Amino acid sequence: MAHRVTLIPGDGIGPELAEASRRVLDASGIAFEWEVQDAGERVMAEYGTPLPEHVLESIKRNKVALKGPITTPVGEGFRSVNVALRQSLGLYANLRPARSMKGLETRYEDVDLVIVRENTEDLYAGIEHRVGRDAAESIKIITREASERIARFAFEYAVANGRHKVTAVHKANIMKLSDGLFLESCRTVAADYDGRIEFEDRIVDNMCMQLVQKPELYDVLVLPNLYGDIVSDLAAGLVGGLGVAPGANIGAEAAVFEAVHGSAPKYAGLDKANPTALILSGALMLRHLGHPDAADRVETAVREVIAEGKATTYDLGGPAGTMAFADAIVGRMAGVSAGR
Ligand code: NAD
Repeated sequence: MAHRVTLIPGDGIGPELAEASRRVLDASGIAFEWEVQDAGERVMAEYGTPLPEHVLESIKRNKVALKGPITTPVGEGFRSVNVALRQSLGLYANLRPARSMKGLETRYEDVDLVIVRENTEDLYAGIEHRVGRDAAESIKIITREASERIARFAFEYAVANGRHKVTAVHKANIMKLSDGLFLESCRTVAADYDGRIEFEDRIVDNMCMQLVQKPELYDVLVLPNLYGDIVSDLAAGLVGGLGVAPGANIGAEAAVFEAVHGSAPKYAGLDKANPTALILSGALMLRHLGHPDAADRVETAVREVIAEGKATTYDLGGPAGTMAFADAIVGRMAGVSAGR
């Protein structure tokens, strides 16, 4: 039976990347029925919001979405579509794998990290106020419920994906109550996986230094919202940056898969942008839907085309456009070498 998936092309380079990803996923051996839903700048005039209710309803119905980037209109009163999606759908876990690929010019060769970021609380709860004229306060919320939930997600991900270690990242030496509770929650959950998945913790500043010096020592990292935001970009930088960084926002009822990068408006419609990040987000979606073999096929084909270097986009030093890159990946999956 075909998987019914909400496909949100998005703004800027989004539509071409969505089309490229759809081609690759349709060739993965798994059948999809794509329910295309427009959101973002293009629907603002018609609906007065970048995220109309029927788009949310579509994701709630299908439980899975593949989403292109959406331009956040600058100005008062606009909620970021990404924040709105996260809140409305209860997408509590942000998942970002960062894995080295042959053929990408980076400083490291053996990085294979998975960043699991808590998506709902911490300083991102948005509770802040001015204290008089010359001071302001932001409130950092950490709860046992959300911390245990994200820790369990990280351990379950590790078990399901053959990973061996989870590292909790915190600043509990200074924020003894809030980060202390996060660490305590991770330890509680870790006890349930004793003997199966190794557990350790690191203070966030030390973690950053260690990731730059010896990233190969780490496997799955679990972090509260703010540290997760920062460290996941650091990890993306270790393996080649925005064009190749996939992501997922996952909740109990729905999951939205999307690239880390934005809508890069200056490249819109030029068939220039790199589709890798959204295609790899599609591979994460395949895993989520229970098709690890198809996900492996997509990831292997992406890696081979990048390693070969003949059909990649400008940002990877290649001569190809977005669609030619995607077609080379499709060709690889069918056993055909790019460039032939
Ligand atoms: P951006 O990621 O869109 O682009 C920054 C630069 O990175 C681009 O100019 C380009 O040089 C490069 N780049 C990004 N993606 C690329 C790709 N696939 N292939 C090749 N090069 C690529 O960041 P920005 O310019 O800060 O944001 C533009 C818009 O996107 C803003 O409106 C922002 O709010 C939005 N945004 C949306 C999301 C999302 O929907 N998840 C995420 C980030 C930013």
